[in-house]
Amino acid sequence: MIAAVKGRHPTPAQSKVAALRSRLRASGLRATPARLAVLSFLESASRPVSHADLVEALADSGIDRVTLYRNLTDLTQVGLVRRADLGDHVWRFESAQSKSGHAEHPHFTCVECGEIACLSEASVRIAQGKGIPRSATRALEIQIRGLCDRCS
Ligand SMILES: [Zn+2]
Ligand SMILES: [Zn+2]
Repeated sequence: MIAAVKGRHPTPAQSKVAALRSRLRASGLRATPARLAVLSFLESASRPVSHADLVEALADSGIDRVTLYRNLTDLTQVGLVRRADLGDHVWRFESAQSKSGHAEHPHFTCVECGEIACLSEASVRIAQGKGIPRSATRALEIQIRGLCDRCS
């Protein structure tokens, strides 16, 4: 437990934690240190991360892998985090409010090196057509596979 520092204005980092805390509470979750750590890491990540990535990144935090997995699941269930299998049968997680946009967006996976990139929503357009559900222009999970710039 960290003692509160009195008589100081909150640092940017503290304000960020306060914002994360209120988002957790608004979603009906208790703002535990583990959830704050997971959400904070996902917000700063520039691409979706796997459970293994998270375990490695938060190795110094003292949060064990089972707890991390449970918290990823909790955060996904309340919609703060999105989960996707980007073609290699590994669940990857990203903040539903990441820099890359709060909306569902396409992902690119390199078939050679496994590099994953978040693409902007506007980079892929789905035309209406036979067999395409009407909701497809908005709420569709799109995965693009091919060779990245380095591998092509
Ligand atoms: Zn590649
Ligand atoms: Zn993404």
